[in-house]
Amino acid sequence: MNKIKDFLSETKDLKIKIYYVILFIGSFANLISLIADIVQGLDKRTILSAFACFLFLIGLLHASIRYHIENVGKYLLVYFFNCLFFPLTFITGGGISSGMLLCYILALFVLGLLLEKKARIIAYIICILVLEFSIIISYLKPDLVDMLDYKSSVIDITVTLLITSATIVAILSMILNAYDNERRTAQQLNNRLRELSVKDELSGLYNRRELFRKLDSIYQSEVGDSVPSSKEDCYIAMFDIDDFKLLNDEYGHQFGDKVLSEIANIFIESTNEDNGELAARYGGEEFVCIIRADNPEDALSRVEKMRTDILKIRWEEAPKLVVTISGGLIGCEEYDDLRVTIHDVDALLYKAKREGKNQIKL
Ligand code: GH3
Ligand code: MG
Ligand code: MG
Repeated sequence: MNKIKDFLSETKDLKIKIYYVILFIGSFANLISLIADIVQGLDKRTILSAFACFLFLIGLLHASIRYHIENVGKYLLVYFFNCLFFPLTFITGGGISSGMLLCYILALFVLGLLLEKKARIIAYIICILVLEFSIIISYLKPDLVDMLDYKSSVIDITVTLLITSATIVAILSMILNAYDNERRTAQQLNNRLRELSVKDELSGLYNRRELFRKLDSIYQSEVGDSVPSSKEDCYIAMFDIDDFKLLNDEYGHQFGDKVLSEIANIFIESTNEDNGELAARYGGEEFVCIIRADNPEDALSRVEKMRTDILKIRWEEAPKLVVTISGGLIGCEEYDDLRVTIHDVDALLYKAKREGKNQIKL
């Protein structure tokens, strides 16, 4: 049983999986009914046809596993059951007094799952005609059919219902599991794609495009819009790492990358996205944070805290190194044009650089 499970979990294609499940369940159910026929001492004709079916299923299973003939095998399976084995068993096994009609439904259900497009339509037309024909024959030539007595009929229908419904449950749960897995994978891929499109890989910060998307939405929102998108309490802080070129030259580019990512973490931890804030990588070693504050003093103290938090970071590779940043801070309320705001905050940042770095200008 475990071997069958392993084999099925190795098979990736859902249709091929269904094909093998049908072959496994079919062979097993057929073996049981063959034994039951022999034990009951049924006539040779019935036993022989059950045996022939068993041989066919086992042969097909063996050939499919060994030579990978699943694509031909599924046609053989569909036409064998619908056009030969089931109609014959219907006639010889008790006609409508048996449970064969349930097998007809199962066979048509499986057909729909195994075949595709034109092949499916053609198979449906042929198989439904053959199955209907077998019922009409049993009506026109009642002598051909050995009708079961009431008791045997009830037993046959009960057993057949059990086997067919178990098969349907097995196939359906396989399909639903595969669908759930597919949906989960698609969802994860979607999230990853979205993250890749809005975030910078090295720093984990939002990228420039996402920053401007957010700023545009803030500048376009009307007064009275929900708080996270309003301009009244919005501040823009622009930062640049001081003497970063020197740091790269002295400690190497790889260490420079580490510094960038650690500093980015401070910006991420210091902003609250749920409150409409955002931290972004604006350029190489330049960053922009959107901050929400009730007044310029509060905004400045938030930004000053970011500056001092960065200052306090200790570096394993360079114990004496102190990395500083300079910044500009501006309130958006008095600005109507985003481009002018960015220009002015940039000017403040360069003022901070000119006046000795490691400071924020408001
Ligand atoms: P200032 O204090 O005036 O800002 O001086 P600076 O050296 O920081 O500024 P400058 O513009 O001269 O140099 C910026 C450096 O940042 C140059 C560039 O190699 C480095 N840089 C930009 N992006 C990255 C990056 O992703 N990783 C690393 N390691 N370095 C980067
Ligand atoms: Mg710099
Ligand atoms: Mg720079």
